[in-house]
Amino acid sequence: MAHQNFPSRTDTGTGHCLPPSYKAGRHFLQIPGPTNVPDRILRAIDRPTIDHRGREFARLGRECLEGMKQIFNTANGEVFIFPASGTGAWEAAIVNTLSAGDHVLLFETGHFAVLWGQLAEKFGLIVDFVPGDWRHGIDTHVVAARLSSDRDRAIKAVMCVHNETSTGVTSDIAAVRKAMDAEKHPALLMVDTVSSLASIDYRHEEWGVDVTIAGSQKGLMLPPGLGFNAVSPKALAASQKTGLPRAFWSWEEMQGPNANGYFPSTPATNLLYGLREAISMLLEEGLEQVFQRHLRLSEATRRAVGGWGLELLCLNPTEYSASCTAILMPDGFNEAQFRVLVLDYYNLSLGAGLGKFAGRVFRIGHLGDLNDLMLCGTLCGIEMGLARFGVPHHPCGVSAAMKYLAE
Ligand SMILES: *Cc1c(COP(=O)(O)O)cnc(C)c1O
Repeated sequence: MAHQNFPSRTDTGTGHCLPPSYKAGRHFLQIPGPTNVPDRILRAIDRPTIDHRGREFARLGRECLEGMKQIFNTANGEVFIFPASGTGAWEAAIVNTLSAGDHVLLFETGHFAVLWGQLAEKFGLIVDFVPGDWRHGIDTHVVAARLSSDRDRAIKAVMCVHNETSTGVTSDIAAVRKAMDAEKHPALLMVDTVSSLASIDYRHEEWGVDVTIAGSQKGLMLPPGLGFNAVSPKALAASQKTGLPRAFWSWEEMQGPNANGYFPSTPATNLLYGLREAISMLLEEGLEQVFQRHLRLSEATRRAVGGWGLELLCLNPTEYSASCTAILMPDGFNEAQFRVLVLDYYNLSLGAGLGKFAGRVFRIGHLGDLNDLMLCGTLCGIEMGLARFGVPHHPCGVSAAMKYLAE
């Protein structure tokens, strides 16, 4: 089919012509991170970099470290901020608390669990990997069974991905803690909240988490570049007695300068300006409202998927993610080609299928600075893309989402 209003240039391989190169209007960045950076944060970052050893900086540092305790929901824990992506924060959690040869229990919820396990193995940890189908969260019965059969307490850490970004499945961390407590198992509980912090209810202290891992570029609405550890007193004590060789990632090196709002090496000052603003925005809206907004937008997204007659990857409704949704493409339709088409025609970026679902699943990020109309625009782009790509579907997704949002 020819598209008369587009100058015919190269073919995308999908039988469609590329649209003109200048793209008017805004780009829709609806991948599950990095997310849209709101103007208030961009403006906050757009300031001169200051002396990170000066007094003005100390206030910024303290405000960020204290503010993040509220976001993690911890009063007694410590927060560490690294100039790093989430992967760096994974590494920091491991090298500060574990030793080569230690066993760790990790659950195959999806791609990010696999990557975290591979990272752990590179440090000589023995990963007891509980296999999963990438369509369910952590099975707490398995947690209980594995811990109870660990009679000599070889498992030193239970590692969980709270929100598995590759599959749109959220695990119940409070239930994992309960299973550990029921078994009176002394392992540390480590939780990756890179795609859930500040978008899905999370309680570092109440849930007895020892190390929480987070990054700046998802629910926190910042550009990539900051990695976080929230650390319980128990994990901090463990780090003083044990751990792998570490220098840059050392919590201990951070603690001294942090006490006065400083960092041992040059911090990402401008991202910290942004972080201070992000914390203000989240507290202004109210964390409870932030979580409710994400729940509502995720439900609207699922109504759209149902309206299209497509299949969600997540099979358990109690584990639906509030921050991202993964959708199976019908057999014979490649998600990568579909995403290229949607990007070309509608200037909308969708998340790729990861790991074993590459080519078969596309993902919608609905986290961060997002409102009803931004989500509707995203869903419109997908519905038009499905039609244009010739994917069998019912053109009833957007209307189902709108109906829900207008209720
Ligand atoms: C994005 C993500 C990561 C990786 O973070 P990077 O910032 O890319 O290093 C880790 N875990 C989860 C669950 C994620 O969504």
